[in-house]
Amino acid sequence: MQTRTQTQQPAMTTARRRPDQEAAAKATEDSQFFDAGKPPPFRIGDIRAAIPAHCWRKSPWRSLSYVARDVVVVAALAVAAAALDSWAVWPLYWAAQGTMFWALFVLGHDCGHGSFSDNGALNSVVGHLLHSFILVPYHGWRISHRTHHQNHGHIERDESWHPITEKVYRKLEQRTKKLRFTPPFPLLAFPVYLLYRSPGKSGSHFLPSSSLFSPKEHGDVVVSTTCWSIMFASLLGMACVFGPLQVLKIYGIPYLVFVMWLDLVTYLHHHGHQDLPWYRGEVLFGRLMA
Ligand SMILES: [Zn+2]
Repeated sequence: MQTRTQTQQPAMTTARRRPDQEAAAKATEDSQFFDAGKPPPFRIGDIRAAIPAHCWRKSPWRSLSYVARDVVVVAALAVAAAALDSWAVWPLYWAAQGTMFWALFVLGHDCGHGSFSDNGALNSVVGHLLHSFILVPYHGWRISHRTHHQNHGHIERDESWHPITEKVYRKLEQRTKKLRFTPPFPLLAFPVYLLYRSPGKSGSHFLPSSSLFSPKEHGDVVVSTTCWSIMFASLLGMACVFGPLQVLKIYGIPYLVFVMWLDLVTYLHHHGHQDLPWYRGEVLFGRLMA
């Protein structure tokens, strides 16, 4: 069954239109040229064929050079900010370092997709180092992210930022509604999502017993949760040695900036053209497949 997130408005003909009427009229005009619900006029094989051959060749050394570059930048920023220790510098540092944490996340994301290299062990080791550093359980998130890609646009099966049914919405606790739907709280949703998944879903990215994972994936999840715990314990240890304020300034606030980047980007990924359909029930995904 196909559902539309928005209903189309009739075109307005009067000279003076309110902004919302203007937007509705524009949407109607757009939809005459583009129907987001229709299968595209190409197949996935066409897309693959259009990508130059050299783009398919993975180079582990080149991928590792990106990791080295980003790690050097992260370390240099932290050392410089700690040395300068000035309130004129800290906000700039937080913005820059938070963006670099986001860069580390993207490299770990690529490890999870196998686009980092063809070596599964290398992908796993680098992915764990990168994602554990920014408190992401590598395999837990990798597996749920795979589920997301396989079910993008499906209200029931997609992992994040999917519309929820009125029935589920009514059942949500007041606190969840507030945190999930009132800006700026959704910008800090990622750690909550890792712990509890999206509203209406159960399980956690940290628990092998979660319904997110198949039995053969339990070992992977345990490894990643252990790596996450080591990083978390290291942060607590550093807070004891250097003081919680110093850890907050060097790591904590950049971490929050990274979370905001992640939530902003993924929110925008899932809120595109207003006519883009969401599906539920049994639908044939992969209609692009050749
Ligand atoms: Zn992805």
